[in-house]
Amino acid sequence: MAGTSNAMIAPASCIVCGTHDFAPLGTKGRYNLFRCRACRLAFVHPMPCTSEIAAIYEKYTLHDSYERRARRKIIRSTRRLRRYMHLSPGNRFLDMGCSIGTGVEAAKRLGFEAHGIDIDEDSVGTARRLFPDGRYHAGTIDSLPAEWGQFDFLFSVEVIEHLPDPHAYFEALAPRARSGALLYLTTPDAGHWRVPKDFPSWHHVCPPQHLLFFNKHAIGRFLDRHGFDVVKFEWNLKPGMKLLARKR
Ligand SMILES: [Zn+2]
Repeated sequence: MAGTSNAMIAPASCIVCGTHDFAPLGTKGRYNLFRCRACRLAFVHPMPCTSEIAAIYEKYTLHDSYERRARRKIIRSTRRLRRYMHLSPGNRFLDMGCSIGTGVEAAKRLGFEAHGIDIDEDSVGTARRLFPDGRYHAGTIDSLPAEWGQFDFLFSVEVIEHLPDPHAYFEALAPRARSGALLYLTTPDAGHWRVPKDFPSWHHVCPPQHLLFFNKHAIGRFLDRHGFDVVKFEWNLKPGMKLLARKR
């Protein structure tokens, strides 16, 4: 059709449910948005390339404000860990997307062997400086040091919505979670009643930072494929998902 760019062509199949039926949701900036009509996953398509994503993370470092907020973030992570640590099969903790190390520090103070990984080297450098008792690694999840072994309790806080290929991420991650391990995961909830009808106007729709917009059904299905069963979704007045899952 005249005036229709190739970029508006929907993807071949849904990354969660594999079906081929998509509704266009409009655009945000130069990014097109679609929703799977079956599992209702919303997503950016085509995904930006990795160099495009890397470029924004280089500009995305807000350490001053992070450092000021560190104390509050440690309190929040401590509360999350305390709520579920009695269910953890052991004390080996990994924060995936650890940023400046507040989750690692909270876990350390609660007696965990605390590890953190983040793609942003500056953040990891700050974590090592502020909270030197944790163990940190800068890089992607598939570069996680082999000698770190397996984990009992994993945090994935506001990470999955950033990933152009979440399957590759979880394929690297799943073997590092021992059987029975807990996964605490948060991500925006595109199925929440407070998400605007005009989807691109939702503040979480900010590509190329956020690329995937899960709902409870879609995240459950996605995690199941990688060997995790959702144990519970925490109630949230805001459109943010907070869930606990367990590795089979
Ligand atoms: Zn789908």
